[in-house]
Amino acid sequence: MKSTEEEILEGLSSQGVTAVKRIFMKKGTTLVATKHVILTFNTTKLPSTVKAGYIYCKTRLYIPNPIRCFKCQRFGHSKTACRGRQTCCKCASVDHLTSDCQSAELLCANCKQPHSADSKDCPQWKKEKKIQEVRTKQNLSYYEAKKLLFPEQNSMSYSNALKSSTSQPSQTDERLTKVIVPPLIKLKPVKPNVLRVKNVSTTKPSTESPSTTSAAQSKFKKHSQNAKQTKASDQ
Ligand SMILES: [Zn+2]
Ligand SMILES: [Zn+2]
Ligand SMILES: [Zn+2]
Repeated sequence: MKSTEEEILEGLSSQGVTAVKRIFMKKGTTLVATKHVILTFNTTKLPSTVKAGYIYCKTRLYIPNPIRCFKCQRFGHSKTACRGRQTCCKCASVDHLTSDCQSAELLCANCKQPHSADSKDCPQWKKEKKIQEVRTKQNLSYYEAKKLLFPEQNSMSYSNALKSSTSQPSQTDERLTKVIVPPLIKLKPVKPNVLRVKNVSTTKPSTESPSTTSAAQSKFKKHSQNAKQTKASDQ
């Protein structure tokens, strides 16, 4: 039996939870509800557990997946903030939409390797995931985390940004990143901690171990000024 998001929110609101979002998984073309939920808290200090009915659910830091633009395929912004060119997700061509792609060969627009731009094997995707992790754990902006992890790349793209800004309106990562950060906020409401919790409804606890919890939380304490995200599982 699965509680609705509203029911879970009602049940957990006394514990500081301000928003509940169930995580769905794609199975074929349909979305299937999982037992995981993302919780948003109204405090900056994250609880290590939440009590759902008679069950204590351990919380775990929630690391969101990188955002990839469906228009230009680059990371760090969404389609609505895109100032790049329409680019095919499958073959990296700028001549057609992904849905019209006839190409037999895959080419990633980001890393130029033979996979589609939405591949999780993409080295660029893995980098972006790392940025999300650092950003979440250390409570940094996307841009700060990127700079911390890949300082050389950033100085390069910075010089590119300078060059292009003298000639034409820039389409570099830097500017796009600045434009886009706001849309990200809708996933982690105003000053919240977001936690991911499993089995909030009823079923018995799983064995999944929340190995990152304590490390993540100790970092949280150091950066208690801003909004945070966490993910959680039950015991
Ligand atoms: Zn874009
Ligand atoms: Zn194509
Ligand atoms: Zn790639």
